Amino acid sequence: MSKILIIEDEEAIADLEKDYLELCGFEVEVATDGETGLEKALKDEYSLFILDLMLPGVDGFEICKKIREEKNTPIIMVSAKKDDIDKIRGLGLGADDYMTKPVNLDEMVLRVRALLRRSHIASNKRLTLPHTILDYDALTVTWGDDPQMLPQKEFFLLFKLISYPNKIFTRMQLMDEIWGRNSESDLQTIDVHINRLRRRFENNPDFEIITVRGLGYKAVMKE
Ligand code: CA
Repeated sequence: MSKILIIEDEEAIADLEKDYLELCGFEVEVATDGETGLEKALKDEYSLFILDLMLPGVDGFEICKKIREEKNTPIIMVSAKKDDIDKIRGLGLGADDYMTKPVNLDEMVLRVRALLRRSHIASNKRLTLPHTILDYDALTVTWGDDPQMLPQKEFFLLFKLISYPNKIFTRMQLMDEIWGRNSESDLQTIDVHINRLRRRFENNPDFEIITVRGLGYKAVMKE
């Protein structure tokens, strides 16, 4: 399950966001001051951060910067002022999305889902889609019932494609990255593996692997 950390000093807002996200199936923790938030963010594993800009102690700018020095976890920055959002964008601190208060909770959930879908959480090597979880260490894909263990190369191939939705990979790129640059394997090996993946995940509700004629392959997200 995706775990989200909300760093927000207005407890009423934090509670509202927490309740709503939990209702939507996420696990949520809250930190109500900057210092605690930053400490938790750096120490524990989260799938995503919702970070208020104005906080007592360490502010959102600083927290965002510090998180980015260590982690690629997606960050949604929230601010009461539209001007601040423009400022944050300008600073290029590495936040992935921005929202202004009062936050529309439905929109927040949509953005959370979109970011989780896009992100490959390198720290714990799990990819979490709305209905599917890919676990890099176990080589398993869980969707519906039990985890399904995939052959290594097949798993790596899928993981790569899904880590970068809509990005087109040439067969050569995939061969280099998954089989290694000096591999003796034929490029058609990729097609064979792609076909196996397609059969395996034919009815998967989250993604589909598309052939881009003359170029290669890409994963697209459904919905
Ligand atoms: Ca605040």
